[in-house]
Order: sequence, then C-alpha cells, then structure tokens
Amino acid sequence: MSSNCYQYDVIVIGAGHAGTEAAAASARVGARTALLTTNLDTVGQMSCNPAIGGVAKGQIVREVDALGGLMGQAIDATGIQFRMLNCRKGPAMHSPRAQADKRAYQHYVKCQVEQQDNLDLCQETVEDLITETIGDETRVLGVTVRGDASYLAPTVVLTTGTFLKAIMHTGDEKTAGGRAGEGTTTGISGALQRLGFEVERFKTGTPPRLNARTIDYSKVETQPGDDQPQPFSFLTDKLSAEQLPCHITYTNEAVHDLIRKNLHRAPMYSGQINSRGPRYCPSIEDKVVRFADKTGHQLFLEPEGWKTQEIYVNGISTSLPRDVQDQMFRMIDGLENAKIMRYGYAVEYDFCPPTQLWPHLESKRVGGLFFAGQINGTTGYEEAAGQGLIAGLNAARQTAGKEPWVPTRDQAYIGVLVDDLVTAGTDEPYRMFTSRAEYRLLLRQDNADRRLTQQADELGLINAERRQRYHAKIEQIELGIQLLKKSKIEKVAADIYLRRPEVDWPQMCSQIPELANIEANAAQQCLYDIKYEGYIGRQRVEVERQHRLAGKRIPTSFDYDSIGPLRNEAREKLSKIRPLNLDQAKRISGITPADLALVLAHMESKRKT
Ligand code: FAD
Repeated sequence: MSSNCYQYDVIVIGAGHAGTEAAAASARVGARTALLTTNLDTVGQMSCNPAIGGVAKGQIVREVDALGGLMGQAIDATGIQFRMLNCRKGPAMHSPRAQADKRAYQHYVKCQVEQQDNLDLCQETVEDLITETIGDETRVLGVTVRGDASYLAPTVVLTTGTFLKAIMHTGDEKTAGGRAGEGTTTGISGALQRLGFEVERFKTGTPPRLNARTIDYSKVETQPGDDQPQPFSFLTDKLSAEQLPCHITYTNEAVHDLIRKNLHRAPMYSGQINSRGPRYCPSIEDKVVRFADKTGHQLFLEPEGWKTQEIYVNGISTSLPRDVQDQMFRMIDGLENAKIMRYGYAVEYDFCPPTQLWPHLESKRVGGLFFAGQINGTTGYEEAAGQGLIAGLNAARQTAGKEPWVPTRDQAYIGVLVDDLVTAGTDEPYRMFTSRAEYRLLLRQDNADRRLTQQADELGLINAERRQRYHAKIEQIELGIQLLKKSKIEKVAADIYLRRPEVDWPQMCSQIPELANIEANAAQQCLYDIKYEGYIGRQRVEVERQHRLAGKRIPTSFDYDSIGPLRNEAREKLSKIRPLNLDQAKRISGITPADLALVLAHMESKRKT
C-alpha cells in the first residue's frame, strides 16, 4: 500500500448528482467523508439537459429537499425559467420543472459541498478498489487513486455515472470518454469484474447545442415561464429572479427524409452500438423510425444560462455524423442559419444491474460497497440524486453501527425507485414516471415535507432552520383543519362544505376570516386533505395491507432450496434477489401467490420448530 494514505468513515467516488448528494448526506449525519472526483471543475455538472425536475422527477427533487439534500436549493438559486407541469390535472400529477443556468448550478453545488462540515472534496481519479476476503465474506477497505495514494474507509459509495469504459459516438467517429471533453474510467470496471459483479452496457445520447445569435426567433414560438414561479425547496419563500423564455420549433418531412437516407450512418442502426438506450428519451433517428407516421416532432430551444449564447435543442438527441446534423438544422424553421457549437453524440457505458444490491444500496457481494446513480442503470439527475442521498446516508449509518433506512413505496418516489431497481432490475435505462408509483395520491410534490422531514430529522439529516419551518407549517395545517371542523357555512360543517367541487380556498376565507391567516402552503395542504380525504383514505387501507406483508420478514440467509415443492423459477429468482420480506418477494416478476404461500408456510414451520 502507498505511503500517501488517508483515512475516512465514508469515501464517495464521483461528484455528479448522485455523488454530491451521497457525500453531503453522509457528512450531515456526522461521518468523516471524502468525495473523490476526477475534475473539481465538473462537480455537479449537468451532462445533458440544463434542467431539473419534470413529471415524477420534480417530485423526487422535492423529496431530496425534504430530506435536507442539495438539489432543490441549487435549482432555486440558479434557475432561469420555472414551470409547474400538468397544472390542469389533479395535484398528484403537478410536477415542478426548471431550466438552470448550467454553470451557476454547478458552482452552487460545488460551493455547498465545499462548505459542508465533515466533508473533504478532493480531485482524484480512483483506479481500483481495495478489498479483503475472509472466509466467504468480502468487504471493501478503500480505494487507490492515480499518483500513488490510497484512501481507506469501511464504506465506499460508487457514483461514477456514464464514465465506466465509456465510448462516445458521432457517426462512425468513436472516442473514449463519458462526456464530451472528458475521459473514461477503466480501473473500476475491471475491479468490479474481478470481484464477480455482473456488468452490462447501456447507451444514452445528447443533442447538438446552437448559438442563440444565429437563431431566427421571429419564426419560432415563445414559451414563457410561469407568472408565479413555485420554488423547489421548502426553504425558499419566493423566486424573484427574472425568467428567460424558451422557444419551440418543429422537425418536418424533409428532415425525416434526410434522416431516413442516412440511417446506415447512425451508430444505432449501423450496428456500431448494440447496447440499449432510454426508450422514453429516444434519439431523433429512433423517433423517425418508431413513429414513421408523424410529420413533425417538437423541439424546445432551451438557453443554457444567463451569460452564454449556447442553446440546448431538446428533442433532437442524435449520434448521426456531423454533416447530417448540419444539414438537419438548415431545414428547420428558425434554425436555417443556426451554427452548431457542440455536436450531438451517443455514449455507451458499463453499469451494474441493480438486483445485485440490497434495498439500502449496499452490494450483496462486497460488504460496505454502495452503488448509486447511473451506474445502477438509471438515467436522469433526479434519479441519481435520490439514490445518492440514500446510499450516502446508509454508508454513514453502517460505519456508525446503525440499521439502514430506506423510504417505503408509500412514503416516497425515492422508495419506489430503489425498490424497483433492487427487486426487478432494469433492461433499459430506468427513469421515473408517475405510473410507476401505486400510491400517487400520497406521493404528491406538495407534501414531500410532510412525508419525509420528520423522519429526516430523526436520522440527523436536517438543520435547525428546516426543523423550525417544518413544525411551524404543521401547526398552521392543524390550525386550519381545526377551524374547518368547528365552523359552519350555510348550516353545513365547513370541512364538508369545502368538499363541494366548486368551492375553493378564497371562498372559504370569505366565510371564515381566520382562515385567511393560514400561510399559503399550509392552506393548500388543508384544502387537499379535505377535498381528497376519501381517495387518500382508500390508498391508506391499501398501504396497511402492504405493511402487513412487509412485516413478514425473510432472513437474508433463508434457504429456498429447502422448500421442496417450490418451482425452480421461483427458487432461482428468490435466491438471487433475496427479498427482505414477503411484500418485496411479491413484486419479483414471475413470483406467484402460490410461491409466496409456500415461503410463508416454510417460515412459520421453521419458527415453530
Ligand atoms: P454523473 O453525473 O455522470 O457523475 C459521475 C461523476 O463521477 C463525474 O463527476 C465523473 O468525473 C466522476 N468519476 C467517474 N469516474 C471516476 C473515477 N474513476 N474517479 C473519480 N471520479 C470519477 N439523463 C437524462 O435524464 N436524459 C437524457 O437525455 C440524458 N442524456 C445524457 C447524455 C449524455 C451524453 C450523458 C453523458 C448523460 C445523459 N444523461 C441523461 C444522464 C445524466 O447525465 C445522468 O443520469 C446523471 O448525470 C447521472 O448522475 P451520476 O451522479 O450517476 O453520474
């Protein structure tokens, strides 16, 4: 071992969206944490879209914030356009999204990490994992870094994103690297294979960036931000910065013809890339093939910041050769003379199928080694941040000899995310959708603090300001509900009156003046609690049923081979996933109620003997 050796409680590798949240959470709960990353100038970098949130993703950001994480405050401080999506639908579907000033966002995250007590941010390239095997148990001990040094810790969190054995493609041009202008990581991939992990490949892509000065804005539609922008963080009272508009234009038949003629030069179609990409974020060449009857696709022109002319063209991710990318834009309204500043490309990278992890994101194979973010087969900054927070927290808890904590599926989208990953795995880059959550009405963006902040306080994740604000809000909600329950309007109890579809909060305030003193966010909670009481109650009954099954815990060493009548398929799957309780077992694909009954009967008979 090298003479340059540093000792920590938790080491986090990679300072992307997963790594920064992991390291900050670990340090917040008191673990001495090192965050090692190849380049300090790319901490918190947005590899692709300069935006945070969106449908289901916005809910995750609110949850990360409710747990004391960085992402919500970072986007509030650096956002250039805020919109609440799906406002015409019910509150379960409302999803915040914001464009970020990409550079400012990254600086903000870096500053937060730098200022965090217990946390050392260091520019280091990790080359290998140090492990020790005693008997049949392997544990991580630390990492070695480029330049003859090592960092030791009982827990290590891997968040290397798209960088493992990464190859970028534009046409037939191939370059080693996980993001334009950056290199790749091979040592860690090798270490994972040596340790016996399954490693597979995914791909993702990014669109070209244009120079705003060369766009004809008279030919495109304008998309302004919301008149009253809503912040992401429960600590932000008001967003006062001026907002920048985005713009919309469309592809057309001529562009689609050009793409069809050049499909043989697209790495996805020429056979140059075989790995699978995100189905719901397809490249333009994919869209033209899969939706052949569509005559145009929407393109959003999104500014990358206040102080740059760079425009991200959302909707036209591509790895077609440069000459085709140049020609495409010449055929699009408003972009005829647009100058490409960065060409689009696809990137292929290694990931570790996440069924190799326990729900608290520690690997089953190597004790103390945690995984979070894109390395687990997910895509998206928000998914990465949510996992990072859970992995960092649990690495720190393990070091302190504490039990892991993971939110349940009825408590958070983050709970849905980790449960889906470790129970079912993923055969394409996993992104969150509201449809993945069975308790959508409970998991709203507006109530993330009510779902998680008390718990976060008990875990030691939040500061005094957040605690104080949370309790003040809860008091206001209780006051509002009390007022509604004890008042009458037109001889009807006010809470019953409020359930009428046409009745809104301002009307209630005109009838019961004390209600006007309830702060807006608390008033919204009173309104939803009362209006949706019936639906919420029904979901809670379901949740109770789920909790009863979750209470039937299965020991991690449970021997499925000892259940004679169990089907082979069930035996194999249960032995691989090793579910922690009957509820998780139920969600493994192909596991039937009969299999569960056998496992339960076997557990009961073992308990009796
Ligand atoms: P990253 O943000 O990639 O961070 C990984 C960090 O690890 C980096 O800081 C890197 O420097 C560091 N690192 C790597 N190896 C080492 C090492 N050996 N030692 C030390 N540090 C190391 N997401 C979407 O939702 N939609 C998209 O359309 C989309 N398109 C994308 C296109 C491209 C080209 C890329 C690269 C990514 C795209 N993404 C997209 C994915 C999105 O960027 C990721 O989901 C997100 O950044 C993952 O966060 P992460 O923290 O897991 O990894």
